[in-house]
This record gives sequence, C-alpha cells and structure tokens, in this order.
Amino acid sequence: MEYGLGGKVAGVSGAASIKGIGFAIAKALLAEGCKVFISDISAERLEEAKQELARFGEVLAIPCDVSDEASVQGMFKAAEEHFGGVDIFVSNAGIYPQKALCEMSAGEWDTVMNVNLRSVFLCGREAQKYMSKRGGGVLINAASYAAILGSAGSGAYAASKSAVYSLTKTLAAELAPYHIRVCGFIPGVIATGMTQGVIDERGDALQSQIALRRLGEPQDVGNAVAFLCSDAASYLTGMFLEITGGKFCVQNPDY
Ligand code: NAD
Repeated sequence: MEYGLGGKVAGVSGAASIKGIGFAIAKALLAEGCKVFISDISAERLEEAKQELARFGEVLAIPCDVSDEASVQGMFKAAEEHFGGVDIFVSNAGIYPQKALCEMSAGEWDTVMNVNLRSVFLCGREAQKYMSKRGGGVLINAASYAAILGSAGSGAYAASKSAVYSLTKTLAAELAPYHIRVCGFIPGVIATGMTQGVIDERGDALQSQIALRRLGEPQDVGNAVAFLCSDAASYLTGMFLEITGGKFCVQNPDY
C-alpha cells in the first residue's frame, strides 16, 4: 500500500510483543516509509522487537511506562532528539486483567486505569506539544468492544476503554485547531498474547460469530491503522474504526 507516509515520524506504545498489535502497527508504518519509535514497559522484549523491525526500516526503541508522566515526557523528548519531531502517535499499550469487579482491590483497579486510560491522556497531551510544532499530526488510540458492551469478568478493562472512547472524541475536538486528527480503533478478536486464553477456551464459538469466519491477525489491525494515519483518512477525526471481520454480524451460526 502507498499512503504517502514516507518520512513521517511515528511512535507506537506497547510494541514489544512480536505477536502483538503494537508490533504489527509499527511494521505497517515502517512499510509505508515512516521512521518509527517503539516503546514498551519491557525494555528487554522491546530490544528484541527492534531487532526484528529494523529489517523493515529506521526504528528507535525507547523504554517507557505509559502510566508514568515523566516516562512519557522522556519518550517524546527522546524521539524528537533522535528524529527531529513527531507526526504520528499510536497509544496502543494496554493490560487486560481478568477479574470480577467485586474481587478487585482498589489498587488493582487503579493500575488498569493508569495503564489503559491515564496513558492516553498523558500521551495525547504530550503529542499535542510536539505535533503542533510540526503544524499538525495524527493521534490514534486503542479501544475495545468492551467499551460499548461492558465485560463481565474484566469490568475495569471495559470501563477504562469506555473512557478512552470518550477521551478520543474530546481530544479530537480540542486538538482540531492544531490540525491534529484523533481517531481510535476497535479490534474484534485478534490473536495475540492478550487474547490467547480466551481463544484457547472458546475460539471456535467466537469465530462462528464473525462474518469473515476467522479471528483477526495483528497485521489486519496494523494495515487499518496505517490507513487511519494517512492523508487518505484526512476527513476522519473523533471516530473509531472497527477492525472485526464483521463481528456480531452473524447471529445464526448456520449462515
Ligand atoms: P499485548 O498484550 O500483546 O500487548 C500489549 C503491550 O503493552 C505489551 O507488550 C505490554 O508489555 C505493553 N504494556 C503493558 N503495560 C505497559 C505500560 N505500563 N507501559 C508501556 N507498555 C505497557 O496486547 P494486544 O492484544 O496487542 O493489544 C494491544 C491493544 O489493543 C491494547 O490496548 C488492547 O486493550 C487492545 N485490544 C486488543 C484486542 C485483541 O483482540 N487482541 C481486542 C480489543 C482491544
């Protein structure tokens, strides 16, 4: 694909997992000619991911805890020092603890909110500073179907993603004067480390609800996010792209 992203500087958080969505987004952006900085809380896995991605283009690894203000500030500063600026940022890092709400401690709740939600605020605020210096940019946030449906057994995750949904819409309005588009994506069931347990348990049942009759691959998300980052999506802001293979289109498994 050629989306005209050549030379843009793009960052992706939570990109250390080689089988994960962040890694696939970084790979797709590199394939489009972006210079990419990847970040993750795991410095060791990040370095491995960098080695893999270096085959596709210019990539910088910046360890970062996206729930920590100073760490996020340091990440953007390091990216600017290395690449001269930032044009695109994808807030992809997230955690998915499976625990019923009434069994959660307040500390566990706070951790989910900090990693999944506070991070999107911190990265969005920081991205604005750097992108506005370049005359604009694109910010993309990872949400989930759980944001809309709720999720028994992972309610804190669902609540955090609902807030990401609302935050994305608000940021789109607040950052439009800086020529920064803000969109999100809603993956269906994508085969990654995060969903491995669910897929092992009920992968066939989930697949039968998907119109395209297959679970998603991280690269399905990577390609769609590259489109969202490009000028081909220039009139899209404050919206979420559902990358689901037609999830929930199939009510009757005989179809
Ligand atoms: P994953 O677990 O493979 O990758 C998430 C990455 O985030 C990991 O590398 C992890 O180390 C990193 N991370 C965790 N805490 C961090 C922190 N504090 N700072 C920086 N990095 C941190 O997950 P994935 O399946 O690739 O999911 C990526 C995003 O997509 C997440 O936001 C997730 O909620 C969302 N999502 C995924 C699916 C799916 O089907 N896989 C569905 C809906 C939403």
